[in-house]
Amino acid sequence: MIRDAAGFRAATDAARASSADSARVSARHVGLVPTMGALHAGHVSLLRRARREHPFVAMSLFVNPLQFGPGEDFERYPRDEAADLGIARELGIDVVWAPSVEEMYPPGMELPAPDPGPLGDLLEGAARPGHFAGVLTAVRRMLDVTGPCAAYFGEKDAQQLFLVREMVKELDYSVTVVACPTVREADGLALSSRNAYLSSEEREQAGCLFLALSEAAELARSGERHAGVLRAAMAREIGATPLARLEYATVVDEATFAEVDPVEAPARALVAARFGGTRLIDNLRLSPGEPVGHAEPAPGPGREG
Ligand code: AMP
Repeated sequence: MIRDAAGFRAATDAARASSADSARVSARHVGLVPTMGALHAGHVSLLRRARREHPFVAMSLFVNPLQFGPGEDFERYPRDEAADLGIARELGIDVVWAPSVEEMYPPGMELPAPDPGPLGDLLEGAARPGHFAGVLTAVRRMLDVTGPCAAYFGEKDAQQLFLVREMVKELDYSVTVVACPTVREADGLALSSRNAYLSSEEREQAGCLFLALSEAAELARSGERHAGVLRAAMAREIGATPLARLEYATVVDEATFAEVDPVEAPARALVAARFGGTRLIDNLRLSPGEPVGHAEPAPGPGREG
């Protein structure tokens, strides 16, 4: 476990230098999994994948104050460094970088503040002003300290993943962004450190997010292309759940993250809702099928009722 940035950089430099073809320092040698800790099976899936794909794996452990707004849960965000280190050890992670705020953002150091652009003010960014500027500031600093690597992010935070990819492209970093599928509980609820805030009743009802997304996916698969119909179906499902307060239910284009209507290219349904004081988000990829009403039933035998 390393706390200082210079020490962490020395470790990743050594890993890159000791790799077989050290003449070509590349992203292939170091896998980086940025986390805010309170590790759950979602994080573990990222760590395992990085472990499979790279000879050297680093995990960062940092609850980033810049991405929390005033009145959000920065202070009470779950923290359990000892448990997280135990998991990292079990998974054979080579290095955990757990910097202090001062090490991450050294006073006096002029840190570049990446601009998330207009998408930074939409959806999660509309609900959490400044959130994505805070996320990108931390991710950029982490990538600067880590050096060339493959960085693993969860699809669970789809807008974050999209904006990180954009930033890496814009900066032309030697970083491969790897997207990992969302890990879910048996009822479909996406694992999240914030699920720990839910009362047992809220937890029971939180499955409505995945139900809503699954309905949208099913409608899209069966050919429904009106985003309004998909949005309404998701809103109905979440709206019918007594303890859920819907914030948004929408459909965006996978390639641009712009809200779409009609749904044609590969798209993603996104939802956000509050359960008491806990705000949860989730999303699911939509694969548009044949348009509704255009598919003629095939004549002949083999079709029952
Ligand atoms: P966090 O600690 O919440 O910042 O998450 C660290 C990384 O784990 C982010 O890239 C998240 O998108 C990812 N992650 C969080 N929850 C899940 C999940 N249920 N399945 C897959 N990845 C996840």
